[in-house]
Amino acid sequence: MTPGWFARGFPHIWLPYTQMKTTPAPLAAARTQGSRITLADGRELVDGIGSWWTTVHGYNHPHIIEAIEKQARVMPHVMLGGLLHEQAATLAARLAALLPGDLTRVFFSDSGSVAVEVAMKMATQYWLNRNIRGRTKFLAFKGGYHGDTIATMAVCDPEEGMHALFTGLLPEHHVIDLPRDEKSTAAFGAFLEKHADELAGILIAPLVQGAGGMIFHDEQTLRRLRAAADKYELLLIFDEIFTGFGRTGTMFACEAAEVVPDIITLGKGLTGGTLPLAATVASQKVFDAFWSDDPAHALMHGPTYMGNALACAAANASLDLFENEPRLRQAADIGKFLGQTLGRCVGRPGVTDVRSRGAIGVVELDHIVDLNALKRRFIEEGVWVRPFRNIVYLTPALTISEDDLEKLTHTIVKVLR
Ligand SMILES: *Cc1c(COP(=O)(O)O)cnc(C)c1O
Repeated sequence: MTPGWFARGFPHIWLPYTQMKTTPAPLAAARTQGSRITLADGRELVDGIGSWWTTVHGYNHPHIIEAIEKQARVMPHVMLGGLLHEQAATLAARLAALLPGDLTRVFFSDSGSVAVEVAMKMATQYWLNRNIRGRTKFLAFKGGYHGDTIATMAVCDPEEGMHALFTGLLPEHHVIDLPRDEKSTAAFGAFLEKHADELAGILIAPLVQGAGGMIFHDEQTLRRLRAAADKYELLLIFDEIFTGFGRTGTMFACEAAEVVPDIITLGKGLTGGTLPLAATVASQKVFDAFWSDDPAHALMHGPTYMGNALACAAANASLDLFENEPRLRQAADIGKFLGQTLGRCVGRPGVTDVRSRGAIGVVELDHIVDLNALKRRFIEEGVWVRPFRNIVYLTPALTISEDDLEKLTHTIVKVLR
């Protein structure tokens, strides 16, 4: 039975990434708890996706909920122009302490796409402030995804960012193969020899390119990027909106490679899946280029809800949980379990690859014939798994119970048979 609010409201909703004419109706969600989503009709689904990779501590973690409630009574929001509040100040200091190297200046925004745009603007103005002209392009990589706004679409994989469709609207950057083997490393080197002096920076989602297809690369690839950025004096930007907060096994993916980028972007898991918040964190070197007596050298950017106090309180509470609960060990345990159980799909007809890293498990198929039918099948089995293109993947909450995790992997193995 569909609730009244659904019937009244759905005709006015425009859903994400959806052909509204042919889409099956969305499910009516009523409640969440831990790794479970309860539907309005009473059915319960085990969540394998963590609401687009945000709910690292599961839904409704009492410590985060309490922090939000407390902050709501004191001060839900105050503009960050000319005012600073305790939650934003504390969060900035904590992020600076957690991040490697001298990534110590935190610029808050309200979505990942905006955080990436801010990083691109910072990197471009870094050169202008130093009176170096013509460095306005970015080098990004195939398989990458950095957001849906116009500037970020232009640095996504050309297919993902629909560069052909939006020709004329999108600024043109360079998107090439990641230097992951001898051939692509040679091509990368040749590209930089030719184009380095047009570039403001290099942009990469480190270790795992998420929305681009859950594509993994190794630490060595990131070290190659750092070495190239140093050689050609380019800024290296890590987009850790997906990989940050334990997803790949370390708190941030850059730690595993022991590479410190010049700018890092954070989002998604930052508030533990409760409120929208993102951050662009700059190194001292980048910040210094803006430190001047000239007002024109300032970073002219300021989202209205920048540093929202409720969201910052949620993020501080989320960081408490990383300090006080064994999240990284849980991520490692999940990874081991995903590797073993999804591994049963290896060699099945149509399965081209099975891989896991941190709390990410992926079954790659030759192709998926009917994506909607497959999604429906998962729901019938009581799990919330959202395959895309030719990928079936799991990114559960790091707190998911063994039983729920087993239900997810068991269902995938069963359904893909
Ligand atoms: C999700 C994502 C973004 C965009 O974040 P939004 O909050 O959806 O704007 C950018 N980069 C990466 C790597 C992401 O996974």
